[in-house]
Amino acid sequence: MNIIDEFDTITAIATPIGMGGVGVIRISGDKAFDIIEKIFTNPKFEPRKFNHGWIIEDDRKIDEVIVLPFFAPNSYTGENVIEIQCHGGVNVVKNILNLVLKNGARMAEKGEFTKRAFLNKRMDLSQAESVADIIHSKTSEFAKVSIKNLSGALKEGVNDIRNQIFEVLSKITAGIDFPEDVKEPEYDYLVDSFNRIISSIDSILAGAKTSNIFRQGASVAIVGKPNVGKSSLFNALLSLDRAIVTDIAGTTRDVLRETLDLGIPVTLIDTAGIREEGDNKVEQIGIEYSKQSLEEADLVLFVYDAPQGLNAEDKEVLELLKDKNYLLIANKSDLEDCDPLPNPLPAEGTVLNLSALTGEGVNELKEELTKRICDINPENLEFVTNTRQQECLNKAKKSIEQALLAAQLHELQDLISIDVKSSILALDELTGELITDDILNNIFDHFCIGK
Ligand code: GDP
Repeated sequence: MNIIDEFDTITAIATPIGMGGVGVIRISGDKAFDIIEKIFTNPKFEPRKFNHGWIIEDDRKIDEVIVLPFFAPNSYTGENVIEIQCHGGVNVVKNILNLVLKNGARMAEKGEFTKRAFLNKRMDLSQAESVADIIHSKTSEFAKVSIKNLSGALKEGVNDIRNQIFEVLSKITAGIDFPEDVKEPEYDYLVDSFNRIISSIDSILAGAKTSNIFRQGASVAIVGKPNVGKSSLFNALLSLDRAIVTDIAGTTRDVLRETLDLGIPVTLIDTAGIREEGDNKVEQIGIEYSKQSLEEADLVLFVYDAPQGLNAEDKEVLELLKDKNYLLIANKSDLEDCDPLPNPLPAEGTVLNLSALTGEGVNELKEELTKRICDINPENLEFVTNTRQQECLNKAKKSIEQALLAAQLHELQDLISIDVKSSILALDELTGELITDDILNNIFDHFCIGK
């Protein structure tokens, strides 16, 4: 697909293939009305009125249908669009599609209807991307937040920032272009403006982590020194025997990943024992992976051996978790001499007593995980972003930060304007004002046919 496609007439089945009450075939493009005239018994259309009749091929009735006409530019794609509602089921829908193809349309590619909506300026790129999000959303919560973007929340947020940047850029440019008539803006004004713009970008990025959790699920890493029961806990949470459990320290050498369904998919990561030095190479690689898993984890389960209490080695691992969201798991509560609360209790640590061996306390842990990870109210999430959009926002922020530094150092405004301009370009990339063929194709490749 190229951006400058011929806008020929495309068609696709818009409903899932299979048994169903109704099937919908969509046609979009200049020839949409010509095509339907050839195959429909009642083709005198008026805007906003549907027509009832029969789809026919050489006077032979194919199906009784309802046809909805949308006149350009008042349609999803901005072009002339026809939607045929026929009886559901694989064969009728395919027969009608074939007839439409025979009469001059071509099969639409993935996401081509939405791509045309974007290219015809019916929506910006963030709205187009939200269409795919809504279709692919795995939870009703994510569907709810994606709807906000379809109605333009992100577009408006970004345009507001773009306007703020543009205002500053206009003042700088006027000062440079007409030095006799216009004074260049004060550096204090620039510093204030750039700070304000950075916090506006931050307010959109604030929802990034939650957006990613809605989109990709959350990840939970199980860490602790060897032999405290990490693999046993991994298995107990997933109710399987995937990780090898032995009583020899350092047996879990790979990082294991499995998905636990808590409403939002949670990737559970069983790490090798985190210790500064491994006895051999394989274990060292495992330890390196463990540290990486810690980086990517949204929540960490720090497991220790409750009968032994927290020792110096545990505390070393805890040091690594200082800035992390974590839970302390006092494992092996089935054994005698368990200390239910470690002494001293690490600050902010919530301790859960359980036995990975008997399963006691594992359900309580699942409840706590659900509360901590999945209990996100979509109403509180003002902006939803995907990683592409986050990259654009981060690029814009970086440029403004450079401009801020330059303004603080009273550098030439000509130079400052270069960074300011590149921040605008980054935002234009987000909304699709400035976009390459490759990026666009990549985005729409994730759609389904018919959307
Ligand atoms: P890891 O090295 O931290 O992954 O620890 P493992 O899961 O391999 O367990 C080490 C040993 O502790 C094994 O012999 C387990 O059977 C034992 N173990 C794990 N959890 C419990 C528990 O809750 N109670 C008891 N009594 N033993 C456990």
